[in-house]
Amino acid sequence: MERNDIYVIHGRAYQEMTLRILEACDLAALIGDREKSIALKPNLVTTTPPEEGATTHPEILAGVIEYLQAHGFRNLTVMESAWAGARTEDVFQICYHNRVCERYGVPFLDMKKDTYQTYDAAGMEIAVCDRAMAVDFMINLPVLKGHCQTKITCALKNNKGIIPDFEKRRFHTIGLHQPIAHLNTVCKNDFILVDNICGDLEFEEGGNPVVMNRILAFRDPVLCDAFVCDAMGYAVDDVPYVRIAERLGIGSTDLSSANRIRVNEPDDEEEPASYRPSGRVARLMKHTAPDNACSACIGALIRALHRTEQQGKLSRLRETVCVGQAYRGKTGRCGVGNCTAGFEKSVRGCPPSAAEILAFLETLT
Ligand code: SF4
Repeated sequence: MERNDIYVIHGRAYQEMTLRILEACDLAALIGDREKSIALKPNLVTTTPPEEGATTHPEILAGVIEYLQAHGFRNLTVMESAWAGARTEDVFQICYHNRVCERYGVPFLDMKKDTYQTYDAAGMEIAVCDRAMAVDFMINLPVLKGHCQTKITCALKNNKGIIPDFEKRRFHTIGLHQPIAHLNTVCKNDFILVDNICGDLEFEEGGNPVVMNRILAFRDPVLCDAFVCDAMGYAVDDVPYVRIAERLGIGSTDLSSANRIRVNEPDDEEEPASYRPSGRVARLMKHTAPDNACSACIGALIRALHRTEQQGKLSRLRETVCVGQAYRGKTGRCGVGNCTAGFEKSVRGCPPSAAEILAFLETLT
């Protein structure tokens, strides 16, 4: 797997998808020596179950462990610390990661209880937990979601889970962007597997999940977060820590040079009823007419409508936006995705990104 590769898999059998995408990436070859110590770092930020759109699904954790054990890797740990104010062990149980660790015999380390050292992170002093720094290979398992302060959160920010609580609080007092970027100059980012099953639109703690039913794989955390900006309808410069991380040499935001590899095609049918009635998402859905729509396509549309609403333009949208495979070969007024290519107005892509749909919606408002 190359640094500029982006692997994508769609579906609803999350553990099976995880095994399949890891085989496609050939993660075992990337790790190499079977004796290496490997840490898995999920997002267990707060006490909300994964279906709320804030925390890593246990099926993904199980899939990664199953893959690694099947390939002869035995020195595995799962590590995380919940945000300051929550007990990690509570989140560990609510998100069913305790059951996964028990089933596969993998120890869980609460980073709140770990010791730490302070590092010079490209000119900024940052304390990082010792056990996280000691591993040979770090697998980051973030959730693709919104954040009320930084707009998006995924690979780079997920590493706040390997710093002590006092350091998390300090990050907030000095503005989150600089310290998040600098932290990533010292912590390990060897492989990133993104839970893009149902991330929240706005809040790190969940509550407005948008179903996408995707899992994504990256080696470059900056490329990952640039992809997330695009998927959420933001420019990279809307999220300063991503650009700062690039300037610090952590990775590249250049999506145009990325190599996108589809492990399968988005063919799942996601009926509107499967969206949680979270008020905001239900309100945005009223502007859509889904019919056999893939989760990735309608998820991108909801995110773009959300951005349009944030920009104060949604009330000017007079069109109902069609999306879904049932529109293939048909004509109509306004649609998103290649399936609506026959419509008067349509944005191409399979699926198009939220940024592409957002630009399309701007022509309609
Ligand atoms: S364009 Fe059609 S096939 Fe492609 S993701 Fe959208 S609904 Fe699915």
